[in-house]
Amino acid sequence: MINVTKSYLPDIEEYTKYLEEIWKTVHLTNDGPLLRRLETELKQYLGVKHLKFCSNGTVVLQMAIKALNITKEVITTPFSYVATTNALLWEGCTPIFADIRPDDFNIDPEKIRPLITENTQAIMATHVYGNACRIDEIQAIADEFNLKVIYDAAHTFGAKYNGKSILSYGDLSTCSFHATKVFHTVEGGCIVTNDDAMAEKLHFYRSFGHKNDDYRSIGINAKNSEFHAAMGLCVLPKVPELIADRKKRFDIYDNQLDFSRIKRPTLMPGMEYNYAYYPVVFESEEVLLRVMDALIAQDILPRRYFYPSLNILPFATEKTGVQPCPISEEAAICVLSLPMYPDLSEEVIERIATIVNETVALVDENV
Ligand SMILES: *Cc1c(COP(=O)(O)O)cnc(C)c1O
Repeated sequence: MINVTKSYLPDIEEYTKYLEEIWKTVHLTNDGPLLRRLETELKQYLGVKHLKFCSNGTVVLQMAIKALNITKEVITTPFSYVATTNALLWEGCTPIFADIRPDDFNIDPEKIRPLITENTQAIMATHVYGNACRIDEIQAIADEFNLKVIYDAAHTFGAKYNGKSILSYGDLSTCSFHATKVFHTVEGGCIVTNDDAMAEKLHFYRSFGHKNDDYRSIGINAKNSEFHAAMGLCVLPKVPELIADRKKRFDIYDNQLDFSRIKRPTLMPGMEYNYAYYPVVFESEEVLLRVMDALIAQDILPRRYFYPSLNILPFATEKTGVQPCPISEEAAICVLSLPMYPDLSEEVIERIATIVNETVALVDENV
C-alpha cells in the first residue's frame, strides 16, 4: 500500500546511541540535556533567536494565543488543518475567516482589511503546504491596525522566504514536528520568537508556569521528552538530503502529469521551498472523487488536504455564524494531495501520474 506520506526513520543504531545516553543519565524528560542539544541545533539550522521545543504543533498555537493575551476576534484562514481553528476556539477566541488567494490558497490580505473591527486583536495565518503567505502585506496591515501576527508554520520546516527561515516571521511562529512532517520528532513542535522576554514567558508556560519554587504565571504541560529529542537529533542532520530527495520526486510528478486539465498552487516569489506536499487541483469534486477511487483501487491512498474548509465546520459556525469563503470552499473540494515522501519510487510516481492523467481524460470524454 502506498500512503500519502511515510515517516523517515534513522538507522536504529543511531537512535540507540542516544538511548544509551538516556539510560546513563536517567533524565527522561523536563528540560533534559538532549532536548537542550536539539534546541541549540534547531536554532542554528533555522537561524532563529529563541526556539522552545514542545510536545506538539497544536499546544504551541494555544501558547502563542495565550502569550499575546488574545481573547477576542482573530482573523484567520479557512484553508488549513483543523488544529489552527481548534486552537482559537479552545482558547475562547472568535475565528473570523478571511478567504484565500485562488492561486496559492494562502490567506488573501485584501480579504483581511474589511473584516477588521474594534474587537480584532490578531491575524493567525498558515503557510499552506510550506509556501509563504503574503508576509509583507500581512505585516503592513498588522502595523497599521496594531494587530499581532501568529503564523502556523507547521508545514514550513527547512523552507526560506527572502533568505530567512519562514519561522522567523510574525510575532510568533509555530511548527509541528509530527511524524508526517518534513522534519519530525515522532510527536513534537516548537514556538519561535525574537523577543527575549517572550521566550522566557514561553519557557515557563511550557512547564506549568513554574520552575522549582518560582511560580510565575499560569502554564500548561507542553514539555517534550528526551526520547523525542533523540529522534530529532537523528533526523535533523538528514533534513537537507530529505528535502533534496523530495525535490526529485516533485520534479518527476511535474514532468509526468498532464497539466491541461489540472492545476498546481503557485509558489511565492522569493521562496526556497521544502517540497512538503504535492497537491493537485481538479476542475470539480466529481473529477477528484473519480481520481481518488481509481488510485484507491490500486492501493494508493491520496489525501484530501485540506478538507473541509474550516469556516463551514459546525462547531466553528456555532460560535461565528455563517462566514462564506467561496474560494476556500471550492479549493477544499477540488484539491488532492498525492503521495510525497523521500523514498517514494520513481516507478510508483509514474504509475500515479498515469492513473491521474487517464482518469481526468476519461471524465472529459464522458461530459
Ligand atoms: C500538522 C499540523 C498541525 C498540528 O500539529 P501536531 O504536531 O500534529 O499537533 C497544525 N497546523 C497545521 C497546518 C498542520 O499541518
